[in-house]
Amino acid sequence: MNLNHNLPHILDLTLDQWHDFALGAGEKKFRGEQVYRWLHDKRVAKIDQMQNLPAGFRELLKQSFIEPAGAVVAHTKDGLGNEKILFDFRGKKVEAVLLTNGERYTVCISTQAGCSLDCEFCCTGKVEFQGNLSIGEILEQVYQIEKLAGNRITNVVYMGMGEPFYNYDATIGSAMILHDTLGMNLAARRITISTAGVLPKIRRFFEQNLPFNLALSVHSFKPRVRVELMDVEKFWPLESIIDYLAGQYRLTGKGVTFEYVLIKDLNMGDDDAALIVKAAKKLHAKVNFIPLNFETDKLKKASKEEMEKFQREVTSKGVLAFNRMSQGEKIQAACGMLRAEHHDR
Ligand code: SAH
Repeated sequence: MNLNHNLPHILDLTLDQWHDFALGAGEKKFRGEQVYRWLHDKRVAKIDQMQNLPAGFRELLKQSFIEPAGAVVAHTKDGLGNEKILFDFRGKKVEAVLLTNGERYTVCISTQAGCSLDCEFCCTGKVEFQGNLSIGEILEQVYQIEKLAGNRITNVVYMGMGEPFYNYDATIGSAMILHDTLGMNLAARRITISTAGVLPKIRRFFEQNLPFNLALSVHSFKPRVRVELMDVEKFWPLESIIDYLAGQYRLTGKGVTFEYVLIKDLNMGDDDAALIVKAAKKLHAKVNFIPLNFETDKLKKASKEEMEKFQREVTSKGVLAFNRMSQGEKIQAACGMLRAEHHDR
């Protein structure tokens, strides 16, 4: 392995960039595509195993890139089909989670090491922010976990550490490779990107006409409540996001998913239900209710009965709303619990 730490990660390049790399190396353009297919279609990252490449070209690859090896530094299982994997990308520590449900193998991946948002209820914002991940570092989480799982990954959700839309280019670049027929060839409806509501990048997402699912972390439709939970409300008020999405829905028919953490006595009143229904109908949105995964002095979990009652209230008005069971809580792998620390507890 090459130990020059300033080299790019071998999974960072797009197909076009591989074509350019091959041409730049005095090789035929198709050599670039061969490398790309080894990496993203066959998911073989060891350059020595890329048998159809000339030896000299393989040597050049070794000198030019970091091979994804040894980034998995810890692996915890809860015995219920949930696994948390800690990666160390040249000092940047991130976690990703594997969730298995029957035939479904979902990987929840991180786009940043830590998170620069500081949402009141989420642990990730409480640890040191170490920066953005590259396309390759994002993809490596999926490919390494696929190897550990011994099964093809069926779904990818960008809901781990970080705000995907604060690292827009690497997020979208990685999702394109997951979706690419020459790459992992995962259907776009199996790829979901979640944002706390970064409006300029939501706009860009629609302008680029991207096919992936978009999830929006809502948590309250009342500005005064939401701003207490999430600083982003100050920059891009939810109302302006909903207006924009409503316009897009009229134009494109593309809906979104609302994520909504249920917090006792805070965002679960009849008026909250009415606001959810109104917005969901306007945008043709589906709603996922998530139980609060840990408590603070101010924020308390709702009971199962309260959650079910609230969900029924919303559903009864004709909105698709689900209570997402919390998975991975036992190993601190549930929503909002990723912090890349305390692995040996
Ligand atoms: N920054 C992006 C991507 C992270 S997704 C976003 O905010 O959408 C992680 C999801 O877990 C978000 O919907 C987040 O609001 C939710 N979450 C965070 N802390 C949580 C907690 N303590 N309990 C339940 N869900 C939580």
